[in-house]
Amino acid sequence: MALRMLLPYIGCMEQAQTLDRPLIDPFGRAISYVRVSVTDRCDFRCVYCMSENMSFLPKRDLLSLEELDRLCTAFIARGTRKLRITGGEPLVRRDILSLFRSLSRHLDSGALEELTLTTNGSQLARFADDLAACGVRRINLSLDTLDPGKFKDITRWGDFAQVERGMEAALKAGLKVKLNVVALKGVNDDEFPAIIRYAHQRGMDVTFIEVMPLGEITIARDDQYMSLTEVRRHLARDFTLTESGHRTGGPARYMRCAETGGRIGFITPLSHNFCESCNRVRVTCTGTLYMCLGQNDAADLRTPLRASADDGPLMAAMDAAILRKPKGHDFVIDRAHAGPAVARHMSVTGG
Ligand code: SAM
Ligand code: SF4
Repeated sequence: MALRMLLPYIGCMEQAQTLDRPLIDPFGRAISYVRVSVTDRCDFRCVYCMSENMSFLPKRDLLSLEELDRLCTAFIARGTRKLRITGGEPLVRRDILSLFRSLSRHLDSGALEELTLTTNGSQLARFADDLAACGVRRINLSLDTLDPGKFKDITRWGDFAQVERGMEAALKAGLKVKLNVVALKGVNDDEFPAIIRYAHQRGMDVTFIEVMPLGEITIARDDQYMSLTEVRRHLARDFTLTESGHRTGGPARYMRCAETGGRIGFITPLSHNFCESCNRVRVTCTGTLYMCLGQNDAADLRTPLRASADDGPLMAAMDAAILRKPKGHDFVIDRAHAGPAVARHMSVTGG
């Protein structure tokens, strides 16, 4: 048969291979974890994340919830086992539960191992039971202080009591809650032992995070930044910490605390970068794929998604993007590097 006549079949075979081949980057890292930011908007204005006056994307630029579902489904078909819904504040996106409901079919089929959420907790009291019913088992709750006044200072608009009610509702609904605490020099560094005790008494893990230089904010980053190596040294005065092999598929390294019996995680993008084992990519609410949180390179997935009801163009764009996943980020925070490493705020790419 002439080669010309075989070409359409070869094209189909190539596409069929692409449609279920795992996404593996040039450094051999398989992409099994996708974080999807469903909105860049938020009901808080945390001082390390946003400036007080933010301009947000026009609604017409956002992917619809159906489009987000299709995008997530395409990643799951290509090997994503863990999906984290984030933002901005994901629970302020209108009708967000319908996305969780539709994605839960991938948990039922076994294609997806875990569907999780990162939230500031403000809306959790309303949503906790429904999230649990959708198959969400674990959530990350951001809580940087136990002091209501300080909470207001850090979040600008948040209400500590409301978040605490959300946390209690989540625990009551049977969700495993992990507290995320951004370590902020001179702001919450005196509270870490108290936060650990608070979390562990309620059966929650707690993870400390180094502040990252993402986006212009009002405060100089090097005034906020503290290395978690220093935090660990301070914690050793109150607690006996031993290495724990526990992993959640994310970047945290865990230690076991003998006094409380609980776990403490450390996410150290600056002091010990963990890029060599990076299995993640991030998609924004406009369908922009960031192959690395700390780099500017991105791929537009919205255009191929909307170009065809067939997933071929989308899959081809995902393949091309993963081939460009960089080895790692170049974060530095010191006097000479007080500005952002990338212009986007964390609320755009999602954490
Ligand atoms: N609004 C939700 C929340 O706060 O949990 C989800 C989105 S928020 C961007 C995700 C996580 O990123 C939060 O734990 C937050 O504390 C963290 N975060 C925000 N800006 C950060 C920065 N510049 N450096 C390190 N962590 C940051
Ligand atoms: Fe909102 Fe989360 Fe950013 Fe705080 S950290 S402003 S809650 S997106």
